[in-house]
Amino acid sequence: MEKNRIINIFANNYELSKEIKRILKQKLEKSGFLVPCEFNPDAELIVCVGGDGSFLKTLHKYKFPDIPFIGVNTGHLGFFQELHPDQLDEFIFKYKQKAYEVQSLKTVKAEIEAGENTYTHLALNEVIVKGDCSQSVHLNLSIGDSFIEKFSGDGLLIATPAGSTAYNYALGGSIIDPRLKILQVTPISPMNTTAYRSFTSSVILPADLFVKIYPEPKEGHGIVIVADGMEHRYGSIDQVKVNFAENIVKLLRFENYDFWTKVKSKFL
Ligand code: NAP
Repeated sequence: MEKNRIINIFANNYELSKEIKRILKQKLEKSGFLVPCEFNPDAELIVCVGGDGSFLKTLHKYKFPDIPFIGVNTGHLGFFQELHPDQLDEFIFKYKQKAYEVQSLKTVKAEIEAGENTYTHLALNEVIVKGDCSQSVHLNLSIGDSFIEKFSGDGLLIATPAGSTAYNYALGGSIIDPRLKILQVTPISPMNTTAYRSFTSSVILPADLFVKIYPEPKEGHGIVIVADGMEHRYGSIDQVKVNFAENIVKLLRFENYDFWTKVKSKFL
C-alpha cells in the first residue's frame, strides 16, 4: 500500500460509537492506514460514527471539507450513514478495492444581512427562518425578482434534495431525488385566516432562482436562522438570501446503494 494514507474518524459521545471508533481505528491501522487523533486536512476519507445528526455536526464543525465521508450508523435513522457497525471488515476490504461510488450532495447557502454586517451559513439539509421564542413571524418572500407573499406563521424552511427526507418531510414537503438540483420552500405552520393568507404547500424551484426573505420587524421579537438544526441569532435581520452553494458533500456508497430503496427501508 502507498505510504501515508490518512483516515479521520469521529464519533459522537455514545459508548457504542466510541467503541466502534476504537475497533475501526485498530482495524484500519492494521491495514496500513494512519488514523490521527485530531482532524487532519490531508486525510483521504472521514469516517463518522453516529447518526445523521452527528454526521451533520461533524460536517459543520470542519466547515464542509472537500474530503469524502462515510458513516457508520449508531443513531436512530441513519439516512446518510452507509454502514452498519458489523460491516467494518467488509468496508475496509471494499474501500481498498475501490468498490464504491461517490454520491455528490448539493448544499444550500444563507446570506444574512443585519445592519452593516453580512453573515453566511451553509447547510446540507435545510435553512430555516423562524421566530425566536415560539413567536409567530411575518416574512416577505421573493422568488427571483418576484414578490410572492407576506408569509405569516412559524417560519419558512428551504430544503435541499438531500434534506427533503428530514424536517421538510415531517412538514408535509415532497421527497426529492438528490440527483435533481431543486430547492424546496416549505411553510412551517402557515396561518390562513381572514387576517393572514399564506401558501400551505411547498414550492419547488429550479437551481438558478434564489429565495429572498425580508422579515417584518416585530417589537421585541427576533428571528432565528437554523442551519441543519444549529441556531444563529443576529439581532435585527434585514434580509436573508438563500440559494445553492458551490460546496458539494461527497458520501461513499457501496454498489448496492439506491436512494429509493433507502427511502422505502427508512420510511415505509
Ligand atoms: P436530530 O435529532 O439530529 O435529527 C432528527 C432526526 O432527523 C433524526 O432521526 C435524524 O437521523 C434525522 N435526519 C437528519 N437528517 C436527515 C435526512 N437528510 N433525511 C432523513 N432523516 C434525517 O435533530 P437536530 O440536531 O435538531 O437537527 C438535525 C436535522 O434533524 C435537521 O437538519 C432537521 O432536518 C432534522 N429535524 C427534523 C425534525 C422533524 O422531523 N420534525 C425536527 C427537527 C430537526 P438520526 O437518527 O440518524 O440522527
